[in-house]
Amino acid sequence: MTVDATPKKELAAIKGTKDILPSEAEKWRELESLARETFELYGYRELRAPLFEATELFEKGTGQASDIVTKEMYTFTDKGGRSLTLRPEYTPSVVRAIIEHRLDLQPEPMRYYFMGPMFRYDKPQKGRYRQFHQVDIEVFGEKDAAVDAEVIEMADALLRKLGVTRTETLVNSVGCRACRPAYGQALREAAGKRKSDLCPDCQRKAETNPLRIFDCKMEACQAVARSFPLIQDFLCEECRRHFAKLLACLDLYKISYRVEPRLVRGLDYYTKTTFEVVSSHLGAQNALLGGGRYDDMMKDFGGPDICGIGFAMGMERVLSIAELTPPKRKSLYLAYLGGEARTAGLELARYFRTNGVECLVEFKDRGMKAHFGRANKLQATWVLIVGEDEMKKGRFGLKEMATGRQVEGAREELLAILRER
Ligand code: AMP
Repeated sequence: MTVDATPKKELAAIKGTKDILPSEAEKWRELESLARETFELYGYRELRAPLFEATELFEKGTGQASDIVTKEMYTFTDKGGRSLTLRPEYTPSVVRAIIEHRLDLQPEPMRYYFMGPMFRYDKPQKGRYRQFHQVDIEVFGEKDAAVDAEVIEMADALLRKLGVTRTETLVNSVGCRACRPAYGQALREAAGKRKSDLCPDCQRKAETNPLRIFDCKMEACQAVARSFPLIQDFLCEECRRHFAKLLACLDLYKISYRVEPRLVRGLDYYTKTTFEVVSSHLGAQNALLGGGRYDDMMKDFGGPDICGIGFAMGMERVLSIAELTPPKRKSLYLAYLGGEARTAGLELARYFRTNGVECLVEFKDRGMKAHFGRANKLQATWVLIVGEDEMKKGRFGLKEMATGRQVEGAREELLAILRER
């Protein structure tokens, strides 16, 4: 019988999703552990929210006019007739969880991190998937621009640990509810005059949300956007001071940055600071991470008036350029000869595993040569030899594959040797 290795089309992985196979998973784990380690040094704690939420949460949080809500959400109706959505981003879930559990009343600092899949019905291409993964951090209750700088500095520290180089940090202020309406009006007027030069999508944005025109990738729209007035000329005194302090703190941390007045980012909720880290190693999808301040979201959700700031980093994009060398695995392959040795070997494997040694055990009877061939294929570090003689003596052979060196000893002695190495 021949087996066709290609699954039927309807059984293949869905377009825009990817399997992470064991050979790649090691790097994912390395990234996750470096992110955890870094964030916890700054006092962040993990907050895990569900994968799906009420659709209204994202409509309200992410924003009705955002691309995510208008075009990209994975929304479905459950058996109870309720509209649910697979999270396209994490911030609204964290804000909901804080309000629901009154985390603002807890003594801990309100600094949270999370890593996991997000879902957007986007056009799949290199660096853009429908199920992708983000590392997300959020801080609440700190108005001072020093925390904005600290968040950017923490992102920079993590990227360095991951061996990501040739990055550029872009920063901007998008103002607040006091000053942005006047800017929106100025943009609407400017876009109105150039409407015929814009793509149909931006013609619509010119009326609904002119700030979004800056996000359009079409060259013609970008050329029009370059002629638009700049937000810096419209910032109120408070936003101006906040931005100046952010830049001063970034200087203090020696973070190099470029002020990019057209960086508005794709989400509606940002106030004051927005930032992005881009890499020249990536192609068209060059943003590694992006974030900003969202001082009104908690209040808008009916919660306490607590400001927030955070960022989300795309794990696929970072991993595509990270220089990670996961620690090499060390394992012990069990080579037993015959039925009784197998029973003794299984007990030994249990002993070594209980004591933290990775043991590779297979249940196919083999001769010694075949065992060594298999251990080689599995890239085992050592082979434990259990034959009749060894069982009688209670002393077993331990061979180091790389050097061919062999020692003999009782299991406790061998464990001491394995631990040492
Ligand atoms: P955003 O939540 O849109 O601000 O995105 C934050 C980061 O997530 C981006 O800088 C990317 O690194 C990553 N990202 C966003 N959308 C996708 C996607 N569809 N596929 C892969 N990575 C993504």
